[in-house]
Parts: sequence; C-alpha cells; structure tokens
Amino acid sequence: DASDAVRVADHITRTLSAPFTLESREVFVNTSIGIALGTSDRERPTDLLRNADVALYQAKASGKATYALFDPYMNIAALERLNLEADLRGAIERGEFAVHYQPQLELSTGRIAGWEALVRWMHPERGPIPPIAFLSVAEDTGLIVQIGNLVLEEACQQAKAWQERHPANTPLTMTVNVSARQLQRPDVLVEQVVRALEKTGLSPGSLVLEITESMLMGDAEHSVDVLGRFKDLGVGIAVDDFGTGYSNLAYLKRFPVNALKVDKSFVDGLGKNPEDTAIVEAVVSLARAMGMQAVAEGIETTGQAELLRALGCELGQGYYFSEPLSADEASALIPRFFIHRG
Ligand code: C2E
Ligand code: MG
Ligand code: MG
Repeated sequence: DASDAVRVADHITRTLSAPFTLESREVFVNTSIGIALGTSDRERPTDLLRNADVALYQAKASGKATYALFDPYMNIAALERLNLEADLRGAIERGEFAVHYQPQLELSTGRIAGWEALVRWMHPERGPIPPIAFLSVAEDTGLIVQIGNLVLEEACQQAKAWQERHPANTPLTMTVNVSARQLQRPDVLVEQVVRALEKTGLSPGSLVLEITESMLMGDAEHSVDVLGRFKDLGVGIAVDDFGTGYSNLAYLKRFPVNALKVDKSFVDGLGKNPEDTAIVEAVVSLARAMGMQAVAEGIETTGQAELLRALGCELGQGYYFSEPLSADEASALIPRFFIHRG
C-alpha cells in the first residue's frame, strides 16, 4: 500500500543523498520520485506509468528532493503544464519576452554601477508573467536556452546603448542570470556569449554572468572548468543567492568569481535578527578577504541600506532604490541617478 511505497521512496532518497566520487570528483544527487498505486485490475500499465509521471513532476515542482503520491487532481496541473509549454514555444516565436532592469548602486555614493537583467513574459492576455511562473517549465523543456539567449543579446545591446549615451570613467555593467540548464552545456553558452558580445560591441568586462550558489557547487569541478572559460573571455561572474545553498569554501577560492550576492532572506533580517546580521557581516568580509565585491539584494528600507554601507558592502539593489524597470523607464532614470542618492 501507499505507506510501503513511501518507506521505499524515503530509503532510496536517503541512500542517494550521500555524496559519492565519480572520476575523482565529488558528486551529489537529488532524487525525485513519483508514486502511483494500481487500484483496479482494469487499470492499464500505460495509465499507471502516466500517473507516476504526473506525480514525479509534482515532486520535482516542489523543488526539494522528495516523493509525491499521485492524486487525480494532479492531472489538471499536468494539463496546465502542457499548455504552458505550448504557450512558451509560441511566445518565443511571437517575441513576447521583454527584459526589465534593476539598478545596482554603489552604496557609498549612490552612483548606478550597473543593472541586473530580469526576464518578463509579456503575455498578450494575462499581462506580464514573472519568471517564477515559467522558468521551471522552460528549464525542463530546454526552452531556457533560447530564452536565455534572447535575454543575453537584448541586455548586451541595451548596456552598449547606455554606455554610448552616458560615457563614464567606470562603464555601466550588465548582469545576466544564467540557469542550471544553460550551464550544463558550456559550449553552447560560451558561443552565445561570444556572439552576443560581437553582435553588440559590448566589452566583455562590462558583462557579468550570475550563477546561483547551488548551481556552482552542484558539480564544483565542472564549474571550475566552465568559469575558467568565462574568465578567459574577460566576462565577470557573480554568485547569486549566496548563503542559501551550501558552499565549499575551498572551491570558492578556486573559482574566478568577481562578486558574492548576499541573499535577500538575510538582508530582510538585517538589524532586526542577530543571526541574519551576523551572516551578512560574514559574507561581506568573506567577499572582501577573497578580493570579491559584495552585492546585497532585496534592500527595502533605509535602515538596511545604511547598515550595509556601514559594513562596507559595495553594491546594493532593491525596491528601496528601484524596482526592475522597463528599458524606457530605466533610460529615464540613468541621468538622475548619476547625480545624487547616497
Ligand atoms: P534573482 O536573480 O535572485 O533576482 C532577484 C529577484 O528579486 C527578482 O525577481 C527581483 O525582481 C526581486 N527583487 C529585487 N529587489 C527586491 C526587493 O527589494 N524586494 C523583493 N521582495 N524582491 C526584490 P524576479 O524578476 O521575479 O526573478 C526571480 C528569479 O528568476 C531571479 O532571482 C532569477 O533567479 C530568475 N530569473 C530572472 N530573470 C532570469 C533570466 O533572464 N534567466 C534566468 N536563467 N533566470 C532568471
Ligand atoms: Mg540574479
Ligand atoms: Mg538572488
């Protein structure tokens, strides 16, 4: 019955969660399991397998290594997912993706140092759809590779245009998020980056690729390789959501990383929660000690901005300064932010 299946699933998950060594690399595996139980002998094997698949999708969607038991309502969710996939393919063809930009400020002066590009799906009927609503389907289907490339080219082109319109001693940087799926195919990604830089004329030093801590550490040895190739190109690397995954500091030392992004969850508790405050301090001093920039994300209050400044955190972004903006809104903001805010 269900409890037997769950016990087995638990056992498999726990056994596979231990790190193991593959060709002298340390590797971690997350397990997702979908469980469907045969209820009547009229049930066809294909139905049972489909149900297990639906439950598997549910388990994966929860984002944790876990199992899920099939329940008939899940079919509805699976159907929605299928629609979403078809919709996404159409959206790429129809050019419905837009890039929004959130400024990253030099906290000591208030100067706009650069921008983070954040993708939006401008759905003709449903309005703008945030990435969280479609990124996991885009990842699973591989469509993220095309979407990621659209964002990359658009963002590089925009950065180049802004740099030409507002020449500065320290040119504005453009930060682009990279997904796990893109990182799995470094050849494709490197080629896309090289092409985007050539096409737009943006200098490699103005582009920063943002990779989450868990992606980076998932297969650290692979990451050392891939990041090395970006370093050779002259492109910067920032580690997103730093502090939320687990970090192998020995690896961190070997990665050619330029910036650590202090996760919003810690910035939230800054000045209120002693643990969060200690973590932010630790990440900022770790970054400094390793010759990296510290970037705080999700700054929403004056208090947070001031504390971060006092701690010596170099860059910050968040609703306190500005929400992500359309290209036009961002263009209007640039001259103003060059003048004040500090
Ligand atoms: P992220 O890279 O950590 O981006 C920060 C998210 O926090 C963004 O959400 C941003 O709008 C939001 N944010 C910024 N400041 C504040 C604040 O002060 N308060 C609060 N509550 N939120 C703030 P968004 O745009 O919905 O993106 C969510 C995630 O989706 C991103 O997290 C990133 O991991 C992913 N993403 C976004 N665009 C892309 C993309 O083009 N490619 C890939 N692969 N992933 C993307
Ligand atoms: Mg990011
Ligand atoms: Mg983040």
